[in-house]
Amino acid sequence: MDCLFCKIAAGEIPSNKVYEDAEILAFHDIAPQAPVHVLVIPKEHIPSVDGVNAENADLVAHIFTKIPKIAASLGLTGGYRVISNCGDDAGQTVKHLHFHILGGKPLSLTMA
Ligand code: AMP
Ligand code: ZN
Repeated sequence: MDCLFCKIAAGEIPSNKVYEDAEILAFHDIAPQAPVHVLVIPKEHIPSVDGVNAENADLVAHIFTKIPKIAASLGLTGGYRVISNCGDDAGQTVKHLHFHILGGKPLSLTMA
């Protein structure tokens, strides 16, 4: 499958990793939108939030148990934002489920 984040998960394309275990990977975004901008992905290909279901819900829960630990490891003591863009209207450019962790400064409240 021609999926950028599957290739990053497989190590075929390099990334600046901040956390990895058997099921998930977190790495710095190549075009950061905030002082800290990290992406968290499942290694298994899930196309988007629309692809979350009963079969992979444990994996998604695993991601969310790790996000606070990853944020702490990045020094985000002042808080952070977690975003997942789902589909074209949201501006999803990589069709592999990912959660943006953004922080390192007070963030704009603009959502649209
Ligand atoms: P989205 O627009 O929500 O699908 O987010 C995709 C994100 O992937 C964007 O913030 C891109 O900057 C980021 N991105 C694209 N290619 C790479 C790459 N090779 N390594 C790290 N981040 C990437
Ligand atoms: Zn993929």
